Amino acid sequence: MIMNKEIYDVTIIGGGPAGLFAAFYSGMREMKTKIIEYLPYLGGKVPYFYPEKVIRDIGGIVQATGEEVTEQLVEQALTFDPTVVLGEQVVDMQRMEDGNFQLVSNNGSVHYSKTVMIATGFGTLHSVKLDHPEAVYYEEKSLHYTVRKLADYYDKDVLISGGGNSAVDWALELENIAKSVTLVHRRNEFKGLESSVTRLKNSRVNIMTPYEIKTLHGTDGQVEKVTLGHLENEGEEKELQIDRLVVNHGFQINLEPITTWGLEMIDGMITVDSSMQTSVEGVFAIGDIAHYQDKLGLIAGAFNEGPIAVNHAKKIADPEDPVKHLFSTNFAAFTEEE
Ligand SMILES: Cc1cc2nc3c(=O)[nH]c(=O)nc-3n(C[C@H](O)[C@H](O)[C@H](O)COP(=O)(O)OP(=O)(O)OC[C@H]3O[C@@H](n4cnc5c(N)ncnc54)[C@H](O)[C@@H]3O)c2cc1C
Repeated sequence: MIMNKEIYDVTIIGGGPAGLFAAFYSGMREMKTKIIEYLPYLGGKVPYFYPEKVIRDIGGIVQATGEEVTEQLVEQALTFDPTVVLGEQVVDMQRMEDGNFQLVSNNGSVHYSKTVMIATGFGTLHSVKLDHPEAVYYEEKSLHYTVRKLADYYDKDVLISGGGNSAVDWALELENIAKSVTLVHRRNEFKGLESSVTRLKNSRVNIMTPYEIKTLHGTDGQVEKVTLGHLENEGEEKELQIDRLVVNHGFQINLEPITTWGLEMIDGMITVDSSMQTSVEGVFAIGDIAHYQDKLGLIAGAFNEGPIAVNHAKKIADPEDPVKHLFSTNFAAFTEEE
C-alpha cells in the first residue's frame, strides 16, 4: 500500500471542468490542493466524448472546441501547482479519528485531506468495447471508441458501428473529411436526434442495417477489411475495405464506490446544500454529480459551484483566515504581475 502522509487542505476527486476550475480557485485561496483523476489525462467528459465539437454556451467564449476549452481549463487549473494524480480511481473515503479524511485508490494509494471535493461527474467512464476477441489488436491504432483527431480520418474509408447519437453525429461529421463513411447498425432504426437522423438519411453516408461486424481482417494493428453479417437473412455476408473503425456502442459508468461512502444521494447524484456541502461535513460535491433544486448540468454552472464549495472548505481547512471570498482582480499575486 502506497501511503502519502502529507495532509492536503482539499482533495478534488475528478479532473473534469468542475474539478479543474475548483483547483484553480482553491489555489488562489492558498489551499494545498490535490486532484485525483481516474483517466490518464485531465478534462473529464469534454475530451472523452467531444474533443472536436464546438461549445457555445460558456459565458465569454463565443465558440471553442472541447479540446480548446480543455487546454485552457488545464492551464488555469495548474496555475498554483496543485498535486495532480492521474490514473487512479478513488474507491474509499473514511473520516479518521483526527477529523481528516483518508482516501484510498484502486491501486492501493492512500491520500489524506482536511476536506474533500467530489467532482466525479456521473462516475468513471468506460466505452463499451467491440465484443470480438481480435479487437484488442486494433484498439487505439485503427479501431477507436471516440474520434479524438478529425485529421486522422482525412481521405480514409471509415466504418462506424452503432445506432445512437454519437454514431450518427460522427458519421455526419466525418462525411466531409473521409473518403467514404459507412454506418452499420444491428437495427433498422437509429436512436439519435430526429433532425440528425434526417440529415443522415439525406447524406452521402452509406447506411447498412441490420448488419453487425462479424470478423476483422488486417495486420499490425491496421484493420483492412471487415466482414459484416446480416441479422435477418442468416448466412448473408458482405465484405468492406476500410482504414478506420469507430465503435460507438455506448459507455458504462461506474459510480459504485461513491455510493458506499455514506453520502445522501438521489437518482445517482449527491445531495448538496447551498454551500455545495454534502450530508457529511467537510465533503463537498460540484459539477454533474451534485444535486440541488433546478440543477443544470452545464459546464458554466460547475464554474460557479467550485468557488462556492472552495470558500466553505477554506473555512474548515483554515478557520483563522478572515477572507470570505476573493476576486482574481484583487488577488495580490496577479495584481503584482501587472
Ligand atoms: C456529448 C456531450 C456534449 C456536451 N455538450 C455540452 C455543451 O455544449 N455545453 C455544456 O455546458 N455542457 C455540455 N455537456 C455536459 C458537460 O460535459 C458536463 O456538464 C461537464 O463535463 C461536467 O463536468 P464535471 O467535471 O462535473 O464531470 P466530468 O466532465 O464527467 O468529469 C468527471 C471526472 O471525474 C473522474 N472520476 C469519476 N469518478 C472518479 C473516481 N472515483 N476517482 C477519480 N476520478 C474519478 C472521471 O474520470 C472524469 O474525468 C455535454 C456532455 C456530453 C456527454
